[in-house]
Amino acid sequence: MKFDLNNKVALVTGASRGIGREIAITLAEAGAFVIVNYCGSKEKADEVVDTIKANGGDAVAMQCNVADFASTEEMINSILSEYGKVDILVNNAGITKDNLMIKMSVDDFDDVLSTNLNGTFHTIKLLYRNFMKLRAGKIINISSVSGVMGNAGQANYSASKAGVIGLTKAVARELAGRNICVNAIAPGFVETDMTGKMPEAVLEKAKEMIPLGKLGQTKDIANLALFLASDEANYITGQIINVDGGMAM
Ligand code: NAP
Repeated sequence: MKFDLNNKVALVTGASRGIGREIAITLAEAGAFVIVNYCGSKEKADEVVDTIKANGGDAVAMQCNVADFASTEEMINSILSEYGKVDILVNNAGITKDNLMIKMSVDDFDDVLSTNLNGTFHTIKLLYRNFMKLRAGKIINISSVSGVMGNAGQANYSASKAGVIGLTKAVARELAGRNICVNAIAPGFVETDMTGKMPEAVLEKAKEMIPLGKLGQTKDIANLALFLASDEANYITGQIINVDGGMAM
């Protein structure tokens, strides 16, 4: 099946690296004009835009720290004034600051919540009227298997990703009457910089918990994001879909 996102404008947060990068490239391949948001990695975001253009698509890089409401507002305002609308919002920006509860600082708890959960709230809030006016659109939030199952050493991260699940369901109910679909993807362990920071022993142990016996690839997540962004998924809303090699079943 070929998914058609021509004439759609997509905003992918945290698209300079990893899963967000792959989602940006995949949505652009289907015809969407993609805003490649990044926080600090300008060169990497520019590389994503270059890759999209080399593939025959179109995209632009835009900096903003989604944890900061004012910075996010500035980015959304400039997107709406330059491109008129956002049809597809992918809330992918995320960080980890892992530690056991006993050693976790208040700052590390707050930082992870601010980016992963508040950041998702900020973009949805700022694009709420845009979606209401369009009477169509797709919001895809990237949660995590950690938010579904909990994970020792990730109290901050698990809480933020469980929060994203609640937020997804609440907003899905609010916006369903306007034909807007809001879903979350809960990836398991995916090979990116984020999992690259984890000790090899932890990753080996993780593999033992994955029925399919291997880590996921960014494309595994991007393929589902593409489907959820397309018209083929118009009757799916309020769902949390695991892409985790069977880990959370
Ligand atoms: P990654 O490789 O570490 O990339 C993170 C991305 O988020 C980067 O593009 C980064 O931009 C951006 N970002 C971080 N803080 C930001 C902020 N405050 N504002 C805007 N952008 C920000 O991570 P990943 O593994 O691809 O993860 C992507 C998403 O999937 C995250 O939400 C993560 O929690 C979730 N996830 C990942 C896994 C996994 O195994 N990898 C599993 C489950 C869920 P800069 O480089 O510009 O700072």
